[in-house]
Amino acid sequence: MELALDVRAELGEGPVWDDRRQRLLFVDIMRGHVHAFDPVTSDDRVLEVGQPVGTVTPTERGDYVIAAGDGFFRLDPDTGRVTPLAEVECDMPANRMNDGYCDPRGRFWAGTMAITPPRPPVGSLYRLDPDGSVTRVLGGVTISNGIDWSLDGTRMYYVDTRLSSIDVFDYDVERGEARNRRSLVTIAKASGYPDGLIVDAEGFLWLALWAGSAVHRYAPDGTLERVLKTPVTHPTKCAFGGPELADLYVTSAATELTPEERARQPQAGGLYRCRPGPRGRPARRFAG
Ligand code: CA
Repeated sequence: MELALDVRAELGEGPVWDDRRQRLLFVDIMRGHVHAFDPVTSDDRVLEVGQPVGTVTPTERGDYVIAAGDGFFRLDPDTGRVTPLAEVECDMPANRMNDGYCDPRGRFWAGTMAITPPRPPVGSLYRLDPDGSVTRVLGGVTISNGIDWSLDGTRMYYVDTRLSSIDVFDYDVERGEARNRRSLVTIAKASGYPDGLIVDAEGFLWLALWAGSAVHRYAPDGTLERVLKTPVTHPTKCAFGGPELADLYVTSAATELTPEERARQPQAGGLYRCRPGPRGRPARRFAG
């Protein structure tokens, strides 16, 4: 695994490939930065959104939507202008938006969590529909993290990090409804904590292990297929990018490292890349 960008993010997260602009988007959450990295030129454009930003998605109309601060916002990739789209948890200043992704119909799902420990289960999972309406789908969440869907759209995978599990729901893609939650994979504490996840073109899941120095790949039935070691201890999420969706990008974090740990891994927070063989699916765009 090579260092694609020595960006030294504090909390690098949410990588997603913008195929129209051929850039890898990711966020540095507490700095409020949205990065748009061009792997060909190594140009890294940084958009400052002025509030903690949990995740970003490209949209059908060509701009970006972010889950940040008190809700969802449109972000103009050229001017950096931020425009409110829908409010979420305006009455909960101790919470912030975290990871998210679009479902097979372009509905944008994103969840929340308490900003500082100890983290009570005061987070929720939300669905932003293309018409701009927001639905609170799930409550009692501690750290809302990775979310993606099976190839046929009938299953939704979801991580609440504190549960040390990849959960799976039956998914009604017509209605955007998830039900019948159960655990698919239990993560042993010695392996770290489940963070972001992405489903590849074969339907397998790539899970970043926070404090686990690894990315795991699981078959749809939950069988561990491979372990990729990462050069840093806190990988956060993967995304496939590049013109053939053959490059696996991995964001990482430095935020919880002690000064000694930072000294041992000065490139923590970097954006890493490898070519694992399996390829990704095109990133879904928000349909609104
Ligand atoms: Ca995360």
